[in-house]
Amino acid sequence: MRNDAMTATEVTTPMPVQEQFTPATATIGFIGLGNMGSGMTKNLQASGFKLVVNDVRKDAAAALISNGARWADTAAEVAATTDVVITMLPTPKHVEAVAAGPGGILEGMPDGGTWVDMSTSVPDVANRVRESVAGRGIRVLDAPVSGMSVGAAKGMLQIFIGGDASDVDRLRPVFEAMGDPERIQHVGSHGAGYAVKLMINQLWFSHLVATAEVLSTGVKAGVDLEVLRQALIASPANSNFVQNDVLSILHHGDYDEGFAIALACKDLGLSVDLARSVGVPVELSSLVEQLYRRAKALYGDRAGEMTPVKLYEDAIGTQLRTAAEGN
Ligand code: NAD
Repeated sequence: MRNDAMTATEVTTPMPVQEQFTPATATIGFIGLGNMGSGMTKNLQASGFKLVVNDVRKDAAAALISNGARWADTAAEVAATTDVVITMLPTPKHVEAVAAGPGGILEGMPDGGTWVDMSTSVPDVANRVRESVAGRGIRVLDAPVSGMSVGAAKGMLQIFIGGDASDVDRLRPVFEAMGDPERIQHVGSHGAGYAVKLMINQLWFSHLVATAEVLSTGVKAGVDLEVLRQALIASPANSNFVQNDVLSILHHGDYDEGFAIALACKDLGLSVDLARSVGVPVELSSLVEQLYRRAKALYGDRAGEMTPVKLYEDAIGTQLRTAAEGN
């Protein structure tokens, strides 16, 4: 039935302007205090936000608690005692269990509450959660990040947000406490943040494998590694990976254990799944995923996300190393 009975007053009354979530108005709940979550919560606290935190490892919260954060035993308790709940969890399976499982966020969250998932996950999980709470006024956003654990520690993450613009505006001070204000982007409706994040990772992992192949082949063919890299930088084949990111291996033998290869494999699998679900054939992405899985099998789940370079170093029997400038 059309609501023709609505009075003139009801029609013209403006929607109440929703207050922004600031340290003065909001307590933040945070679940998942690992490599990323530990830096993000530290920066929320430094910006003045009161925190209620949870993880399966209580010891991960020790420093936050000594700085005034409150511990909650369950995700439901986090949601019941805060204005916004943020999750930063390993995989979609963890996200779904913490959001919608027994003792989860939805059990404790009051109607009208807000949940922001900053994990690298897939639209499906958040879609199911949104459908299950239809009518309760619960706001859901996906806001995954780039910038590695270093960016999380420095409060300089790049953040890609999917959801309603009004919710993004309300949450801006919360995002700015964790991210680089110039790189906090509202990228579209629900799920768009997850999609953008997965595509960025896919391209970066593809750059890594391509660079490892090229550097190893050139070196094995007798070219000096740094001569080859400088030639690539000066050429149309240059990339940010060749110019900057590969240097952590070349200069320091650092394969970035701040992001475990098990999680990189998870992201690559999600990215290939996303392509399949929208009907795009992605042969290259699938191959990169398999190379990553091979490196994970050989070097272990906790090896760094750049460990696939080792596959090539092992194949040529040489580590790819150059001296840092000034050494
Ligand atoms: P991590 O494994 O270091 O941390 C995850 C945390 O979640 C751990 O502390 C774990 O104990 C906790 N946890 C797991 N299950 C839980 C549950 N049921 N309830 C409460 N806590 C639980 O992972 P991370 O590196 O911090 O990554 C988190 C997310 O961010 C992942 O989705 C990852 O893909 C993404 N990400 C990571 C990086 C990076 O460089 N590490 C960069 C960008 C995005």
